[in-house]
Amino acid sequence: MKKILIVEDSLPIIALHKSIAIKAGLDPVVATTFAEVKQLSSQFDDFFCAVIDYSLPDAQNGEAIDYVLSKNVPGIVMTGMLDDKIREHILKLPVIDYITKESKQAFQYLLALVIKLQTNHHIKILVVDDSGITRNYLKQLLTRHNFTVLLADSGLSALATLKENPDIKLVVTDKEMPNMDGIELCNEIRANFTKEEVGIIGISGNASQSLTAKFIKNGANDFLRKPFCLEEFYCRVVQNIEYVQSIDIIRKQANTDYLTGLANRRYFFDTVQPIIQSQQSATIAMMDIDNFKVINDTYGHDAGDIVLKTISELLKQHFGQDYIVARLGGEEFSVFLSEMDLTDAAEKLERFRSELANKNIDIGERTINCTVSIGVCKDKRERLDGLLIHADQLLYKAKEQGKNKVVYD
Ligand code: GH3
Ligand code: MG
Ligand code: MG
Ligand code: MG
Repeated sequence: MKKILIVEDSLPIIALHKSIAIKAGLDPVVATTFAEVKQLSSQFDDFFCAVIDYSLPDAQNGEAIDYVLSKNVPGIVMTGMLDDKIREHILKLPVIDYITKESKQAFQYLLALVIKLQTNHHIKILVVDDSGITRNYLKQLLTRHNFTVLLADSGLSALATLKENPDIKLVVTDKEMPNMDGIELCNEIRANFTKEEVGIIGISGNASQSLTAKFIKNGANDFLRKPFCLEEFYCRVVQNIEYVQSIDIIRKQANTDYLTGLANRRYFFDTVQPIIQSQQSATIAMMDIDNFKVINDTYGHDAGDIVLKTISELLKQHFGQDYIVARLGGEEFSVFLSEMDLTDAAEKLERFRSELANKNIDIGERTINCTVSIGVCKDKRERLDGLLIHADQLLYKAKEQGKNKVVYD
C-alpha cells in the first residue's frame, strides 16, 4: 500500500486525515512536529504524497513545507490562517494544492484530491505552445498532479499527436503561435472531436477583451489569461476534465444494460446499422433463454438475474473481444458476427451453447442449469431490423425443434 505523510499537530485533525487516507487506500504515517518530520527523512522515498500543516509548534512559518518539498515529496498544504502574504509564499512553492481548514468542504476536497492523484496518470493532457519554456512550465504544473502530459510545439504537430492519441482528454493551447494559431487549432480539432470528447483551454497573454469570446466561439471550452495564478489554472484544468469525464460516464450508461453490463439495444442498433450498410453481407445471431419463466417461478427473480448475468459473462468471453454482443431486452441477446461464414458462425455459437448447457450456475443454496436457443443467418440486407427478423424466425424453429439448439439456413 502507498504511504501518505501527515504532518499535523492537532489530534482531531490527525484523526480526520487518517480516515481520509484510509478511504483513499493509502497508509498514513504521522509526524506531529517539525522535529519528527526530520526523523522520518530516511523514509521519504516511500511517500506517495504529504499533507502538511502550515504552522507547527516548532515551525510556525511553513518551514516543514519547504523541508518536505525539498526532499521531493509532493505536498498538499493545509492551513488555518491564510493572509495574502502566506498565500503568496505557498503559491510560489511547487505544492500540489493548498486547502484552508476552515472551509466545510476542505476535507471532502482533500479526499477527492488524494483519490485523483492516484488515478490521474490515466488522463492524457496535450500542451501546445511554440515557447519551450512555457511548454515545460505547464508540463511541470500538470505532472505535479500526476497527469500524463504530451507536448506539441505547433498546431500541426498538435493535430498529429491527437490523431495518434485519440484518448487525450484535454488540450491546453497557446493563442500566439506561427503558422497555425491557437484559434485555428481549435477549429481544426473540432472538425474531428466534439467539446464532450476533448476539452480545450485557450491561453493568451493578449489583453484584448474579445479574445475569450473568440476562443469559445471557435470551439474552446475555456480560456485563461497569462499570467495566471496557479490556483485558477488547476481549477480550470480539473473542471474541464471532470466535464469530459462526466459526459463519458453518461454516454456509457446510456449505451449499457444495467443488469449485465452488455451493450443495450440502442447501442447495438446505433453501432451495427452503419456497419451493415458498408458491408456486402452480415452475419447475425438471435438467442433466447429456454424456459426462463420456469427458472424465475421456481427459484425466484434474483436467481433469474444471476442466470442473466452468467450468460452475459459467457457471451463476453466467447464474442466480446471481436464481435458485438447486446442484451436486446428481457432474456433475448444478439451477436453481430461481421461477415463470418454461416457454418463457422454456427460452429462458434454451438461451442457457446454447449458450454452454457454444461455449466452449473451457482444461485446460492444450489446450482442450476440453463440453456439457450439460437437462430443465425447471413444475409445481404440494408437494414438491421430485417436481419433480426430473419434470425428470430430461425430461433423460433430452434424452439419448435425442442430448444437448446443452433439453427441456420
Ligand atoms: P421459451 O423457452 O419459449 O423462451 O420460454 P420462456 O419461459 O423463456 O419465455 P417467456 O417469454 O414465457 O418468459 C420470459 C421471462 O423472462 C418472463 C420474464 O419475467 C423474464 N424476465 C425478463 N426480464 C427479466 C429480468 O431482467 N430478470 C429476470 N429475473 N427475469 C426476467
Ligand atoms: Mg506563443
Ligand atoms: Mg423471449
Ligand atoms: Mg425464453
